[in-house]
Amino acid sequence: MSHGWGYGPTNGPDTWGEGFPIANGPRQSPIDVIPGQAPYDPALKPLKLKYDPATSQGILNNGHSFQVDFVDDADKSTLTGGPISGTYRLRQFHFHWGASDDRGSEHTVEGVKFPCELHLVHWNTKYPSFGEAASQPDGLAVVGVFLKIGAANPSLQKVLDAVDSIKFKGNQAPFPGFDPKILLPSSLDYWTYDGSLTTPPLLESVTWIVLKQPISVSPTQMAKFRSLMFSGEGDATCCMQDNYRPPQPLKGRKVRASFK
Ligand SMILES: [Zn+2]
Repeated sequence: MSHGWGYGPTNGPDTWGEGFPIANGPRQSPIDVIPGQAPYDPALKPLKLKYDPATSQGILNNGHSFQVDFVDDADKSTLTGGPISGTYRLRQFHFHWGASDDRGSEHTVEGVKFPCELHLVHWNTKYPSFGEAASQPDGLAVVGVFLKIGAANPSLQKVLDAVDSIKFKGNQAPFPGFDPKILLPSSLDYWTYDGSLTTPPLLESVTWIVLKQPISVSPTQMAKFRSLMFSGEGDATCCMQDNYRPPQPLKGRKVRASFK
């Protein structure tokens, strides 16, 4: 049975529980991060991100966001350290954003929304594949980065320049030689907690690593995100925007900070 989930008025996040009961599970994402309730944990290690631009493969409009995919058949682009054990490989990154600059991020900080949030998705190589890792409690680690309105971001522009070639659902294009490290802020201080995918099937397999420091994005660059379409070419056109899930109940989980 196809559930037909999306971000429209009749198939948006409020309805996902009908097709995916885990939507009301104990470790759902995103959450509202409250810094005063996220104590510093000195046992948390610094993040180590080693990305090889040669693994950057293609860019795709998947109908709910756009993503840049990476070759992940070897330990070439990896995440280690931080709250995780072992080696996680970069699979893809994608974004969530709003119809206007006052909303769009999935995580919020004391209720404050950002216009956009970047997710870098990694999988634990103790499992044989991304697909198998995606259903394990320690299977995935996602680094979340907030985008905040400010100066135009030249690193982000390299990604946005490719957006015209993937306007419609199902469009894809080569995207070689991109180093996602250039998208990261200067500080890798983070909050971490146990959570889930924020899109169906909403699997509770993600160690979330949410960076404290946002990167900048200009209003013109935000407009470029909104030029993408949810729909296929020839279908009724519908701008891709408000493709975020709002914060979910914490249900007793602890959020920890890597910084004082
Ligand atoms: Zn995401």
